[in-house]
Amino acid sequence: MGVQETRIYPINTGWLEADLGTYVFWKGPAGKKYWNPVYCHYVDTGTHKILIDTGLCDEERATRYHHKCDKRGCLQVHEHLEQKLGVHPDEIDAIVFTHLHWDHVQNMKQFKNARYIAPKAEIEMAFNPLPLYYRTYESGYLGIEPAYAGCVFEAVADECEVLPGITMFHTPGHSVGHMAVSVATAMGDIVVAGDAIFVERNLEPNPEEGWRHWVPARFVNSYEGWKSVEEIDKRADYVLPCHDEAANARAPYFPYEGMPLRKRRQHIPGFKFYFGDMPAGSVAKAAPAMTTAEAERYLAGLKHPKDMAGT
Ligand SMILES: [Zn+2]
Repeated sequence: MGVQETRIYPINTGWLEADLGTYVFWKGPAGKKYWNPVYCHYVDTGTHKILIDTGLCDEERATRYHHKCDKRGCLQVHEHLEQKLGVHPDEIDAIVFTHLHWDHVQNMKQFKNARYIAPKAEIEMAFNPLPLYYRTYESGYLGIEPAYAGCVFEAVADECEVLPGITMFHTPGHSVGHMAVSVATAMGDIVVAGDAIFVERNLEPNPEEGWRHWVPARFVNSYEGWKSVEEIDKRADYVLPCHDEAANARAPYFPYEGMPLRKRRQHIPGFKFYFGDMPAGSVAKAAPAMTTAEAERYLAGLKHPKDMAGT
């Protein structure tokens, strides 16, 4: 039981249309639309059954209050768990939330035996949102009941192992209190990134601007957001962002034999990291720097965000 048995099952709860320039990539192709999936994750550690976020609501509510939504046959999280993974909602011990944006919290009341664990600053913002974010947190001001109404959360203020092998660490910037979740597995640390990055491509450079990471454009604090992207880069052997189909659909569960492990904090000639070195105790996990020849090949092969439009 434990790390050797731990498996993460991505659950796609539907699709939303977002702008590539104002959401997915800073200085990305504004005006070009990208259909992105909304994943949440079921984690079975052998001793605990956990959800990380709970995903989308139905199409009508999502489209009416938020973004154009298309379920494309995807189920709600509790239906998917029961029908596709054979897990009854009552079996879920805990739900760990990366943040409390509307597309990460729906149907949370379906899990009546679950503890609700969330970042402290997210709980505070959800119950008293800045007016800019009434929709984002489904404030009662909209005339609808938010998914978390009446739920009692356990607040996490500092990085900690909330359950054995499940560590929440600070990744603010996309939202005020966002925390990513690192899951210890037989093949390394898999980071469920919430919205700290939207897609894997956010971790790779923007060569036109000289940025080591092509960070997302939807944020409340760009300085913290950049730092959080570097933090994920330092800690993850594999990343599961909530809005990236490729990263989540490579296999029915993670880790799996042949899973492409990423290189942590790899220096690429011509690009600089801004924040400090690897976290204490993990310096040896940083990848060696790319050579100039390797960098040229790598940069030539990078996908441009404009080629993601319409998918
Ligand atoms: Zn979000």
